[in-house]
Amino acid sequence: MKLSKRISSVPPSATIAITMRAKELQNSGMDVVSFGAGEPDFDTPQFIKDAAVAALQDGDTKYGPKSAAALREAIAAKLQTENNLTYTPNDVVVTVGAKHAIELLCQVLLDPGDKVLVPAPYWVSYPEMIKLAGGEAVIIPASGENGFKITPEQIRQNAAGAKAIILNSPSNPTGVTYTPEELTALGQAVLETDLIVISDEIYEKLIYGDTKFTSFAALDPRLPERTITVNGLSKSFAMTGWRLGWLAGPSDVIGGVKRLMSHQTTNPVSFAQAGALAAYTDPRGAEIVEQMRQEFEKRGIHIAQRLNAIEGVQCIQPTGAFYVFPDISAHFGRTLHGVEITGSMDLAKVALESAKIAVVPGAPFGEDKCIRLSFATSMDQIDKGVDRLAELLG
Ligand code: PMP
Ligand code: GLU
Repeated sequence: MKLSKRISSVPPSATIAITMRAKELQNSGMDVVSFGAGEPDFDTPQFIKDAAVAALQDGDTKYGPKSAAALREAIAAKLQTENNLTYTPNDVVVTVGAKHAIELLCQVLLDPGDKVLVPAPYWVSYPEMIKLAGGEAVIIPASGENGFKITPEQIRQNAAGAKAIILNSPSNPTGVTYTPEELTALGQAVLETDLIVISDEIYEKLIYGDTKFTSFAALDPRLPERTITVNGLSKSFAMTGWRLGWLAGPSDVIGGVKRLMSHQTTNPVSFAQAGALAAYTDPRGAEIVEQMRQEFEKRGIHIAQRLNAIEGVQCIQPTGAFYVFPDISAHFGRTLHGVEITGSMDLAKVALESAKIAVVPGAPFGEDKCIRLSFATSMDQIDKGVDRLAELLG
């Protein structure tokens, strides 16, 4: 059948493809170490599951989820107390994951040909979602030498004619977090332009060392009127499969998002929202998130140290999220297991097929010199996988 031009030009998500392939190989009995999955290896906390089960048993099975209003209120309260941002519950929309929130925003904000600035390395889905909405992604490169961070000057240079910018700190795939000072400087550059900002704060809770998290919109009183904050429960509460995210922003954008959603997904799953409400309101939530954060922090330090000990591998110590994005380009030009390594795609392929380690190539994130390893896996698996990588590259 002839598919639409729109979908024909969209490749599958590399992160999802590799995660699924690694799971398939593991399920078939192959001993693959997966650094692919961008999802916590922890299970959702029991009290959250209990709340969803109770809602299901209580008949919360209709279009209008019983907990929807309370959940939006809890998110608005969280934004006030934790992020210093003032929104009414009506300025919050709960979506089918943060991915859906960004997709909705692209559809609501972009007309054909509208340009969106995307700092690279970027999460694989941003350029595709922009393209699906008819827009054009304008890539702003931030190299490893610059700590994978863009500068205010780069915003100034690229803003003419652009409608929006997507910021993501802590970052997938780099594991890098902007300091509040750096973000403030980006915010000031944005304020000199007409740019709308989509601030993807999904890794808010996963920050390490003395890193501080600040919501972008909170950095200047003029920013909330041009910023939409995106967040969700997947990463912070280990709820990837629940498909729950949200966004908060100016009421005209929120109105557009609600209209679009009313023709599209209607609501996220009713009883899942009861679980999300428990996550945000039960004091056990913060405790468990902190335990997971501490574990990720230890793993992040360990994996970066181990990777840096491999000849020809350079890895920035992550300050957030659960990814490292080492530069492996010193190995390009070599032949490994009969394959000439010309870039990150070849390396990721050989790593999976010959060394049984799943890593995501950097190319679909906009940086071919690197590969992404998720450290949302146990210390034992990290050691086993890095041993294999060291042997492969040795
Ligand atoms: N933004 C970033 C940067 C991500 O890594 C992810 C990963 N899934 C998402 C958004 C979407 O998350 P979800 O849809 O599971 O809420
Ligand atoms: N965001 C995660 C990742 O980058 C999960 C997969 C996805 O949604 O892309 O691996």
